[in-house]
Amino acid sequence: MTIPRENLADIHRRIAAAAAQADRLPGDVQLVAVTKLVSVEKIIEAVESGQLVFGENYVQEAQGKIIQIKSHFPDRKISFHFIGRLQSNKAKKAAELFDVIETVDSLKLAKILDSHCRRLQKKLSVFVQVNIAREKRKAGIPAEDCENFLEQLGECQFLKVKGLMTMPPFSNDPEETRPFFRQLSQLAGKMIAKGLLGQHGRVELSMGMSGDFETAIAEGATMVRIGTAIFGGRNR
Ligand SMILES: *Cc1c(COP(=O)(O)O)cnc(C)c1O
Repeated sequence: MTIPRENLADIHRRIAAAAAQADRLPGDVQLVAVTKLVSVEKIIEAVESGQLVFGENYVQEAQGKIIQIKSHFPDRKISFHFIGRLQSNKAKKAAELFDVIETVDSLKLAKILDSHCRRLQKKLSVFVQVNIAREKRKAGIPAEDCENFLEQLGECQFLKVKGLMTMPPFSNDPEETRPFFRQLSQLAGKMIAKGLLGQHGRVELSMGMSGDFETAIAEGATMVRIGTAIFGGRNR
């Protein structure tokens, strides 16, 4: 049995240690607890242990869970990040439900989100997903398109582009993943220098999961997305 409370405490210790190791403040790194296929009961336990930021991958699954969890804790400021692949036909629903969409990777998707947010009069925080290793079947824009894409996103008045997100190729060895984390950091630095990122507060770098978050923090992650190490394995 996995106990989110204890695992969360352990992850926070590890985040703080990795941040200290990199001469960064523990508060520099935010934990997004990934709850795809995790029950509402376990999420409630996580909230009761102080976790307030969650990540979900599927709009349909998230809808009921978000409503239940927010109504269970009417006084807490809980936020949900969308971290999955967002189909156009689910984009409006996602714009209503989520506080942050981490996986914006096409102008078409951005425009749907923007026009729906205009109707809702809601400013939506988004990240650009970068396919940093140019994997064939992975979502995200190639790094070299980032500048152009960020310029185009500037026209979306209801989207606040807060940073970049990536999911490098899977490896059991975080050292193999490190160069991709570094490349995303460097890309963000270039975009900041060109004035294309940083208009909405601190620039976020969402990278690192259960198996490699410490390496991601060493390379500049400001957000780590962790599921298994908190909630245990997922079975559909
Ligand atoms: C599932 C998922 C995670 C969490 O992965 P774990 O290995 O369970 O920590 C992080 N990011 C994305 C985009 C995911 O889909």
